[in-house]
Amino acid sequence: MTHADQPPAFPLTTRADPMPEDARMALLADPGFGRVFSDHMAMARWSTEKGWHDMGVVARRPIELDPATSVLHYAQEIFEGLKAYRAGDGAITLFRPDANARRFRQSAVRMAMPELPDALFLESVRALVRADREWLPALEGGSLYLRPFMFASEVFLGVKPSAEYLYLVIASPAGGYFKSGSPSISVWVSEDFTRAAPGGTGAAKCGGNYAASLQAQAEAIREGCDQVVFLDAVERRQIEELGGMNLFFVFDDGSLATPPLTGTILPGITRDSILTLARDEGLVVREEHYAIDAWEADARSGRLRETFACGTAAVVTPVGRVRGRTHDFAIGNGGPGEITSRLRDRLVAIQRGEAPDTHDWVQRI
Ligand code: PMP
Repeated sequence: MTHADQPPAFPLTTRADPMPEDARMALLADPGFGRVFSDHMAMARWSTEKGWHDMGVVARRPIELDPATSVLHYAQEIFEGLKAYRAGDGAITLFRPDANARRFRQSAVRMAMPELPDALFLESVRALVRADREWLPALEGGSLYLRPFMFASEVFLGVKPSAEYLYLVIASPAGGYFKSGSPSISVWVSEDFTRAAPGGTGAAKCGGNYAASLQAQAEAIREGCDQVVFLDAVERRQIEELGGMNLFFVFDDGSLATPPLTGTILPGITRDSILTLARDEGLVVREEHYAIDAWEADARSGRLRETFACGTAAVVTPVGRVRGRTHDFAIGNGGPGEITSRLRDRLVAIQRGEAPDTHDWVQRI
């Protein structure tokens, strides 16, 4: 049997009643972020006896959980986030989905969960995009955000790794991430709350990290800022990351710095791509700690020229203002800097199939 004859690992088993075309088009005209969902979902189950089984793409529907389901009590849950794009020639592409597959396995290991083989992760995402390709918005900058996730589904109240898991992938058409569409964001430095401690789960993409970040994020919003900046949990001095994005700093000598991956921040795939693109351009990039006081002093002296946040959802977004209980300073002139704009444009061009993909990052579906 040739490879082409193999049955797909995620067959479309229950087709959804499709949403009427005009209703779908109305939703796709302004989808926002994370509110509109496509017709289907990919799923698989894992149990100690059977391993991975019951793979398929089914009509998207609510899932019923027993009140004693393990995840509802002990939060054994992980997720990923990646986007499908429409290339200029009409093809649908994914950006570095193999990196998401790997990070999903790494998160699973940290949360004592079974590892989903990369081939199944990739096929689940591809099968869902194939089933729901009409949900990719035709808007400028539009994408189909994909959310693979897995949780402990055993009905048992003992504190131990679950013996059963449910893996699902849902898809959500996305326009821009920040509602305001402003050219830069303001950030609030959290001086009271930290996100992750050494030895903790900061490098894993587990739901609990986000639950722990919400009070700080709510404080940022209350203070009129877009996002929270977390500092390290030991000294409360070194800059770590935003609630959902990594940070880069650009200096007057043209060099860049970003906090190192020491286990307390998420190893962002956009972060890794920016590191590569910056080095391609011959820029000096350091992965090193940068303290909040240095950030403020350097922004005031002009040594620091630009700061940007990066992640799948918001791509590359300049930071224009930094505030906190004991901080208030502007970055550059508050607008997007030259290096930020250049790196952003290069990344977006590769993601959209408008620039040569020299690192083999783009996969066609
Ligand atoms: N940090 C955190 C805490 C995040 O949630 C994300 C989004 N996944 C990122 C950084 C950026 O990661 P990526 O570039 O892989 O989207």
